[in-house]
Amino acid sequence: MPTYEKILLKNMEQPGYTGSLSDYRKTGGYMALEKVLKGIAPAEVIDTIKRSGLRGRGGAGFPTGVKWSFIPKDHPGPKYLCCNADESEPGTFKDRQLIENDPHQMLEGITIACYAIGAQTAYVYIRGEFFLGAKIIQGAIDELYQAQLLGKKILGSNFNLDIYVHRGAGAYICGEETALLESIEGKRGKPRTKPPFPATHGLYQKPTVVNNVETLSNVPHIINRGPEWFAAIGTAKSTGTRIFSVSGPVNRPGNYEVPLGITFREMIEEHAGGMKEGKRLKAIIPGGASASFFTSEHLDVKMDFESVAAAGSMLGSGGVTVMDDETCMVAATLNLLEFFHHESCGKCTPCREGSAWLLQILRRIEGGEGRREDLAQLEQLSHRIEGMTICAFGDAEVAPILSTLKHFRAEYEAHIDEKHCPFRPNLALAMAVP
Ligand code: SF4
Repeated sequence: MPTYEKILLKNMEQPGYTGSLSDYRKTGGYMALEKVLKGIAPAEVIDTIKRSGLRGRGGAGFPTGVKWSFIPKDHPGPKYLCCNADESEPGTFKDRQLIENDPHQMLEGITIACYAIGAQTAYVYIRGEFFLGAKIIQGAIDELYQAQLLGKKILGSNFNLDIYVHRGAGAYICGEETALLESIEGKRGKPRTKPPFPATHGLYQKPTVVNNVETLSNVPHIINRGPEWFAAIGTAKSTGTRIFSVSGPVNRPGNYEVPLGITFREMIEEHAGGMKEGKRLKAIIPGGASASFFTSEHLDVKMDFESVAAAGSMLGSGGVTVMDDETCMVAATLNLLEFFHHESCGKCTPCREGSAWLLQILRRIEGGEGRREDLAQLEQLSHRIEGMTICAFGDAEVAPILSTLKHFRAEYEAHIDEKHCPFRPNLALAMAVP
């Protein structure tokens, strides 16, 4: 099996590593912060991150340094940085591992990012269910105040920073950056219409950067080892490593940090140990539940932003869900739609109403009461949601439907023709949508 140098998971894999401030400092922790505070101008830090090619690890893959550069330098009032630790995308569990096992890596990244954009206040927005993670981050922040690595005049510089932990209440949509901002402000977590963008009108209508946990965790390493080192890992446009969360009937499900650009085949067959005995791979969700399905024919697609997009899906949050040949693809799609319908914030009509209609049709088909014309209706409805909503959630909820209709249409037809689910023949589903 190919082995690669780990960047983000390295410390926590050392025997006895606790993630405490003293353990983190023994590995060179906070040297990058010292380096920037003692001699690198904020603009130079932004330029370094730009040259590294680091792109957001939360879903959209936007270049991090470019995002930071959008913050107006001459803004007189406060600016904010929000670390998105909401990690609510089904099938994704990498940020949780980073938070629970090496919180200072993320906190050092936050501190450097705040210095670069001129923010003196940062929030870690963490999903409410991550009770342990929130406790660990708060403990790490307390250590930093005691060590005078947070607060006023950090390391004798003129840089001041306070970091607060903000626990969410468990809504999927609060992982969307503007819904997250609303939630921190104490409002219902509903996405805002853009523009204006958070770079100018973010938290409390002030310039704000929202970055994911994994994205920020990369920052100290880039400062320490240089942008060229980072840019040499991965592919030309997808640089660095990525932590992929692999789940499903594989022998070794878990988080794997690899350079961007290895194939799904290598990830599943080598790192995750291949399919469990007697199982055959049927489908892959390549980047969290919002991503279009792949099939076994996509195993040689490279796991980088461009290759996955060119093959018709997205790398998204890095959650790789593997399904075997005993999985009913209609049931899998229905399961995802149940989730999306439940989590729709309801702000825009195509998503709120459309998800209910889609769910009703899918339940009908899975329950053996589908009609041939339902398939065209599913497609039509999906296209009326796609691109027509306030946030990307609308596209996400139709991706599983459109991609399974494309790759597994025969399964939908079998449900309709045989008047039952071929995988669960005795199933009867209520059609009513709550
Ligand atoms: Fe809310 Fe859905 Fe509209 Fe997004 S697309 S704003 S989740 S109703």
